[in-house]
Amino acid sequence: MNTPAHGTGSNGSGNGTGSSGNGSGNGSGSGNAELTRRWQEVMTQAFGTPRLPLVRGRGSWVWDAENTGYLDFVGGIAVNALGHAHPAVVRAVTEQAALLGHVSNLFTAEPPVRLAERLLRLSGRPGRVYFANSGAEANEAAFKIGRLTGRRHMVAAAGGFHGRTMGALALTGQSAKQQPFRPLPGEVSHVPYGDAAALRAAVTQDTALVMLEPVQGENGVIVPPPGYLHAAREITAAAGALLVLDEIQTGIGRTGHWFAAQAEGVEADVVTLAKGLGGGLPIGATLAFGPAAGLLTPGTHGSTFSGNPVVCAAALAVLDTIEETGLLERVRAAGGRLRRGLTRPPHPLVREVRGAGLLVGVALAAPCAARVQRAAQDAGLLVNAVAADVIRLAPPLTVSDAEVDTFLERFRAALSSARGRQPQAA
Ligand code: PLP
Repeated sequence: MNTPAHGTGSNGSGNGTGSSGNGSGNGSGSGNAELTRRWQEVMTQAFGTPRLPLVRGRGSWVWDAENTGYLDFVGGIAVNALGHAHPAVVRAVTEQAALLGHVSNLFTAEPPVRLAERLLRLSGRPGRVYFANSGAEANEAAFKIGRLTGRRHMVAAAGGFHGRTMGALALTGQSAKQQPFRPLPGEVSHVPYGDAAALRAAVTQDTALVMLEPVQGENGVIVPPPGYLHAAREITAAAGALLVLDEIQTGIGRTGHWFAAQAEGVEADVVTLAKGLGGGLPIGATLAFGPAAGLLTPGTHGSTFSGNPVVCAAALAVLDTIEETGLLERVRAAGGRLRRGLTRPPHPLVREVRGAGLLVGVALAAPCAARVQRAAQDAGLLVNAVAADVIRLAPPLTVSDAEVDTFLERFRAALSSARGRQPQAA
């Protein structure tokens, strides 16, 4: 199965017969098996063995080392907001790298200043921005802001995911990920997600912050009941605690709004971003408002790469493109089309379709998500088995209606195929 079998829905330039896909794509002419073998020899086992080596991408499509094309509804785990190789990102990175690549925080460059101004404008409030290199780091900065209030206790949600560095891991509500690393920096209580009464009971006058995702992404795309974020705002304000919204997965247009909480009119004290912000380049951001904006003072935090001009230029290109091409509206339309197509007509394996915008969870009637992911890949689709019984979809915000329709047709066939497969074949 090579590119033409799967590439017909591509954006034109990306679905050619792939003359550049194999040898020139990975720089060595290696096939899938060879790249996997090399990976196994030299890479840490932290990620296990990735099942598919990818060598190039264009728009919503990627190609493996044997030039097979896939419609990419993983998007680098909700990262590739503009898809692969978007010309605006390529141009911004190329121009900035040729002009000024890195200065460190001993000096000032314009791209991080412009990006901070822009993010605050999109937030609609004055504040201050700390740039990090990942989502976990953005949350580490939020953790430190919390400690700098002078209070120590923190509250987060069971099942929530905030990253794997030690502070972020302490907030992550998944004990299997925490267990090998205890003791973690502490005094964190975890409460059931979506339960305002439990949150109210956990927050005290000693609580520094409450950190929540507007939609729990890694936990299987869980949408809280309406009013939950409002309740969290009211509860934290009453206790003098900071409300930190982790918009690392939901921010930058993923749900059809710049920030998911804007849809509900909730204003947090701290908002963390990463993933889609860099359009494929590594960047995180911690936005702080009100008194929280003054807590990071000289010497309290930092990173050599904070505000790197090249990644900031990429992020500005992402924001420009979302704004100039009306992508927020487009995400709402494409997300609706995708969710409707997944539910109608009903498929016996689909129990529920949930999410917001282009962050979609397909809850399955059986714990066979790995099997569905495998069947989808065989059908030329990349999807993510985020839980035993949930498939997560996070295509580029630029995905076309034709690509959504191609996805729906193939995914339905993949669901049927997975249903017929023996569990051991997964
Ligand atoms: N917070 C949320 C909501 C996430 O989804 C993730 C990553 O999946 C993180 C934090 C951690 O981000 P990173 O993997 O860039 O450290």
